[in-house]
Amino acid sequence: MTKEMVCILCPNSCNLIVTQSDKNPDGLKVENALCPKGKEYAHNELFNPKRTIASSILVEEGELPLVSVKIDKPIPKSKIFEVMKEIKKAKVKAPVKIGDILIKNVAGTDANVIATKSVDKI
Ligand code: SF4
Repeated sequence: MTKEMVCILCPNSCNLIVTQSDKNPDGLKVENALCPKGKEYAHNELFNPKRTIASSILVEEGELPLVSVKIDKPIPKSKIFEVMKEIKKAKVKAPVKIGDILIKNVAGTDANVIATKSVDKI
C-alpha cells in the first residue's frame, strides 16, 4: 500500500510517499523526506496519530464571556471528540490568568487544558 502525506514538522512540508509492505506492515519505506524525522512522522501518522487542540471555555463574571485555551500536549486523534465535549461543558470563574490549568487530565488523556489568555473579573 502506498500513501502520500505531507510532513508538518517543519516549514519544508515534505511530500512523503509512504509504502507499507504486506509482509512487514511495520516496515515503512518513506521517500521524499529531507530528514529522518519524516519517517518518524509517517510512522506516527499511520500507527499512533496525535493532535493538539485550541478552543475556548465559558467564563462567569469575567470582562469577556470566553477564554481561549489549548491542551498542553498532543493527544491521540481518537480522543479529540471526548476532549472537545469536556471543553464545551466547562465553565470557569473569573479571574483567569494565562497559563492557568482549567481542566486537569482532560478525558483521561494525561493532557491539561490551559488558558492562553487572561480574563479579569468584572
Ligand atoms: S521530513 Fe524533515 S525536512 Fe521534511 S518536513 Fe519533515 S521534518 Fe521537515
